[in-house]
Amino acid sequence: MARETRQLKIYGIVQGVGFRPTVARFAEMHGVSGSVCNYGPYVEIIATGESSSINALKKLLRESPPDRADIQRIDDISLAYREYDGFEIVESRGTSGEIFIPADIATCEDCRRELFDKNNRRYLHPFINCTQCGPRFTILENLPYDRERTTMKDFPMCDECSREYHDSTDRRYDAQPVCCPDCGPEVYIVGSDIKSGDAITHARKALADGKIVAIKGIGGFHLACDATNEAAVELLRERKNRPRKPFAVMMKDIEAAEDECEITPEQREMLMGHQKPIVLLKRKDDTSLADSVAPGNPRLGVMLPYTPLHMLLFDYPDGVNMPSALVMTSGNVSGAPICHTDDEALKEIGSFVDLILSHDRPIRTRADDTVMDFYRGKPYMIRRSRGFAPLPFKLGRTKDGNTLAVGGELKNTFCYRRRNMAYPSAFIGDLADIRSVEALKSSIDLVGRMLEIEKPEVVCDLHPGYHSTEVAEMLSESYGVKPVKIQHHYAHILSCMAENAFDGEVLGASFDGTGYGTDGTIWGGEILRCTCSSFERLGSIVPFKQVGGDSASKSGWRIAASLLASVYGSDRAAAIAEETGLCKASDVKLIAKMTEKGLNTAVSTSAGRLFDAVSALLGICKESSFEGEAATELQFAAERGLFEVALEKDQILPIIDTDGFAHLPTDSLFKTLVEGVLAHRPSDELAFEFHAALAAEIAEALKYASDKTGISTIALSGGVFQNTLLLELTHSRLERYGYNVLIHSLVPPNDGGLCLGQASFINKE
Ligand SMILES: [Zn+2]
Ligand SMILES: [Zn+2]
Repeated sequence: MARETRQLKIYGIVQGVGFRPTVARFAEMHGVSGSVCNYGPYVEIIATGESSSINALKKLLRESPPDRADIQRIDDISLAYREYDGFEIVESRGTSGEIFIPADIATCEDCRRELFDKNNRRYLHPFINCTQCGPRFTILENLPYDRERTTMKDFPMCDECSREYHDSTDRRYDAQPVCCPDCGPEVYIVGSDIKSGDAITHARKALADGKIVAIKGIGGFHLACDATNEAAVELLRERKNRPRKPFAVMMKDIEAAEDECEITPEQREMLMGHQKPIVLLKRKDDTSLADSVAPGNPRLGVMLPYTPLHMLLFDYPDGVNMPSALVMTSGNVSGAPICHTDDEALKEIGSFVDLILSHDRPIRTRADDTVMDFYRGKPYMIRRSRGFAPLPFKLGRTKDGNTLAVGGELKNTFCYRRRNMAYPSAFIGDLADIRSVEALKSSIDLVGRMLEIEKPEVVCDLHPGYHSTEVAEMLSESYGVKPVKIQHHYAHILSCMAENAFDGEVLGASFDGTGYGTDGTIWGGEILRCTCSSFERLGSIVPFKQVGGDSASKSGWRIAASLLASVYGSDRAAAIAEETGLCKASDVKLIAKMTEKGLNTAVSTSAGRLFDAVSALLGICKESSFEGEAATELQFAAERGLFEVALEKDQILPIIDTDGFAHLPTDSLFKTLVEGVLAHRPSDELAFEFHAALAAEIAEALKYASDKTGISTIALSGGVFQNTLLLELTHSRLERYGYNVLIHSLVPPNDGGLCLGQASFINKE
């Protein structure tokens, strides 16, 4: 049989997942000699052996790759015959092409077992990891992914760790962050000399005593307290100045989570998988958690321990009686990025906490916890960050040159694009806070270096007042190019198309809070016709007058009052406001006067503000303490009301054709709701009717546009579609009409997904 030498180039997620050691093991099994090397975009195997043996190696890699790997392509090239002594792993070498930056991976089951095995040399070691698990992206300083380019470079391996690292039969073979109690980082209590196990016990005692503890994790600090202790959770709310926004909870294990919540098989798999995001779960009726964890909320954000330190916090053998649920919320000042160094923690959240449990493995890049809902049994992303970012998406189209999209203003993320690969970043934050702007700039710089992208084309939002636009202008000036500006709601639809790798023509329903329209008004309830390179606005909800700049998003009652005045006139509106308890008659008259004179008033088609107004009108939430509060409470009311409403009552108001422009009759819908309130109908029932009617109006407007244009693919995006009730009602109606409906899954429908849409824009056909 003929011996030969071949080069196999393997593309896909093949870095930081134990790929090279697996190749070496398989090669030895089949008597193949040669080498394997990591080039960044791909792994290269040089294989000498029987032709059938090399084929067997290739087949084995395809059929049983390492757990986290994802092979997209194998190029197989014949080389001049050459003999090798055995099979070796060669140092990584850089090259350009499709690059995969590895994401952080939650602690695996094998490591967890060793962590609690008294006979293991890593017994209770808070930094245990292996080829299959541990930090990746958050400790990376550059590519290729090797220890010398991570923040573990300052911890030289001891002899025993080094032996494991170099032994191809060991499960820590080539594991970059490998370490042990002798050579690894150490945990400590900031401002004291309490270290290691004592520090963990110290933190556990504090938590069990109802104290607030800051804990350094993978991508930043958490603020933690006993989630079953009402006084502790209230204290955290008071110190963090966060009256009602729900806190996420870390449960000791899946059984503890099942005690509190209903969990579907898909959710269970996600909770226990290697990414371990926060998953929004339906709460059970009797729960042991403090009411103030998620006040009035039928759902709970739950995650399971994903680092060895988390596991030790719940299960350290020191006799401390720990709760099985801890509040774990991002350690930051509202709007600012998550703290990632001791100095930041001391300065920014030091006053919130009784204790800071930290460690000396530096975090290079911040990553908040990912937050995920489920829709029709599939993930539906709310915040894409740790464990997911910056894994790339393959777009439907290739584009020459490189692109940097800087995202929006709220929930900012950015995205690099190289040819047909897009790399959305970890969550940055709200750019109204200057610290978030700084974090954005430094992260753009770091990821750009990893991807070897210099002087890209810069894409940003059309809004002149966004800080992200400022960053885009500054960067593009330094690159000597002009920024490309993309309308907000168009970018949402592009994002949905990109996630679905769809590059044809779609009709989009882009519904969210606010965005800057091409006509200078506020948009937010839009029907758009879109391709990868252009869009046309075909319809919207009926424009209304939005009084008050930023305060409008907090005070839904102001929008409701303004809508009342426009529908009924000032006098009748004032009487209705008094009768329904919305606000004082004098407030309505003042607002009516302001809109009449155009004082502090903008024309708006924002669906988000319409939700706020309806929530206020129905007496559900008049004043929001956090973004989206009024809208989510309206959704919860509707979900309760769903059971009371006869669904067959399907009265659809016709779309208003205004010179070829489709207006959704949202003003008439509002009027119907006012009459319902005046007739003392239950608010939950009216909340459901609002959802059903709005979904019908959206579907009708899309049908109207489809009849006109012949386009039958529809994309649903924008923060309003985080509302899975509205999504289901709209989606199922569109399916009944036979349309091909594109929705989000792993990219958020909210502004966190904007950057992907911006990056997928193509300047010309
Ligand atoms: Zn492991
Ligand atoms: Zn060691």
